[in-house]
Amino acid sequence: METYHGKSVLQGIAIGRLYVIEKKESSWTKMTITDADGEVMRFQKAREEAISQLDELYQEALAQVGEENAMIFDVHKMMLEDLDYLEAIENRIRTEMVNGEYAVTVTGEEFAAMFSSMEDEYMKARAADVIDISARIVRTLEGREEPGLHTREPVIILADDLSPSETISMDKTKILAFVTKHGSANSHTAILARSLNIPSLVNTDVEITRDYHGKEAIVDGVTGCLFIEPDAETLEEKKKEQDAIHDKEEKLKLLIGKENITKDGRKINLYANMGNVEDVEKVLESDAGGIGLFRSEFLYLGRDSFPTEEEQFQAYKEVVSRMGGRKVIIRTLDIGADKKADYFGLDAEENPALGYRAIRICLTRQEIFRTQLRAIYRASAFGKVSVMFPMIISVKEIREIKEIAVDVREELAKENIPCGEVELGIMIETPAAALVSAELAKEVEFFSIGTNDLTQYTLAIDRQNQKLEPFYDSHHPAVLKLIEMTVQNGHKEGAWVGICGELAADDTLTETFLDMGLDELSVSPTYILKLRDKIRSIG
Ligand code: PEP
Ligand code: MG
Repeated sequence: METYHGKSVLQGIAIGRLYVIEKKESSWTKMTITDADGEVMRFQKAREEAISQLDELYQEALAQVGEENAMIFDVHKMMLEDLDYLEAIENRIRTEMVNGEYAVTVTGEEFAAMFSSMEDEYMKARAADVIDISARIVRTLEGREEPGLHTREPVIILADDLSPSETISMDKTKILAFVTKHGSANSHTAILARSLNIPSLVNTDVEITRDYHGKEAIVDGVTGCLFIEPDAETLEEKKKEQDAIHDKEEKLKLLIGKENITKDGRKINLYANMGNVEDVEKVLESDAGGIGLFRSEFLYLGRDSFPTEEEQFQAYKEVVSRMGGRKVIIRTLDIGADKKADYFGLDAEENPALGYRAIRICLTRQEIFRTQLRAIYRASAFGKVSVMFPMIISVKEIREIKEIAVDVREELAKENIPCGEVELGIMIETPAAALVSAELAKEVEFFSIGTNDLTQYTLAIDRQNQKLEPFYDSHHPAVLKLIEMTVQNGHKEGAWVGICGELAADDTLTETFLDMGLDELSVSPTYILKLRDKIRSIG
């Protein structure tokens, strides 16, 4: 038995087989060749293999997610038949006498640069596709495997690190737990693990090697341990602990339908955070009073082009309808920093967390923002919708957003498309917003405090950087003061105030939050009943 330690993201125990995701970076180098015909043939063979992979992927996607979403593989196949692209690669092999891997990569980059410089949004988005198909050919030339999760049985994922877009494209029913060598407990992948209620470890002292693939393992989120090939005694013990956790969860279910009320009569709303449309199932099971944070950017991740207004509308409508009159707070697109999608064509930045992200993208690329707002307003006809905006720093931004929102509503009215009342709010997740919350409160109906970013920006600690975890203090008095100040300023102007960052689930602070007068806490569905239990024990 081998034992490793990591930082636990969610307390729970998973037992199953390991599935190793190795980040095998392409290792090719530019080489001079002597047999150009042979190299062109090698390239052509890889291209044919890539086409048959895409055929398979198309069929798989068609069965699972329908024709519209499967189309992308057809588009990629067509690109692999594009004569300009193929000739450019062959010419490069023959004239420069270079290996296929080099010729394909460099030609792919040139085509991508050409697409990126085009005005048309559709053509711009093709830049990511040409990079993708070039990478596929290179992968085939090198005999490397297709990334992703290819398993029938649910497994424990063991990886170096995982980005939100990698995690989002995995079949969640196949994941028992995540274990990563890198990654921080505040990253979006960790947040996703919590929302899926999967025990996970980050920053684990294990070497990621293929040798572990298929081996039996235990992830113990309570002690932060990973056991590989556990001995019979450990296995027995952990199975018992797993049963005990399960029993506790069952007991908590007795609180379904009960109020979130302290013994001395103070009430607070408990809402749920979610990212994918399928998460609504867990929200309903958790008995949350509403959805306090629908991270809409997850609709934009793990795909190759922008979701259309109709796709978004269907997604929001499904969530709103299934919540049956309970409030659904949709946060507009918070892309950028660690949440990346190639088709946005965002430049690499020195300081992405302080960069071009969230509302900054929406206000400068308004076509994206307007499409999303139209979809949200349309969905508002089917239930109780609120909308909130991320990464706000000024009153000026809110005024601009409100003008756009009014415009979108008028446009829909002219088209005779029905909309409901939509409450407007903002996230308070920058120290600037907390400090000017008295002015911001005059503009909106509610505040939702994003403690993940608020802590990162207040303490100047990159939430993605695992090395800084010893310095990270989620109870830092500066953060707590900013929260208190935001609540007071919000209330003075009649705005309600909640917390939707991970701190909301920290039950050592529940009493403090009640004392501060918070109106709502929004947490992963996993924590709703635990917090209800806590609240009912106070006073
Ligand atoms: C936050 O910053 O606290 C928040 C809820 O938003 P996200 O974690 O998606 O950045
Ligand atoms: Mg945030």
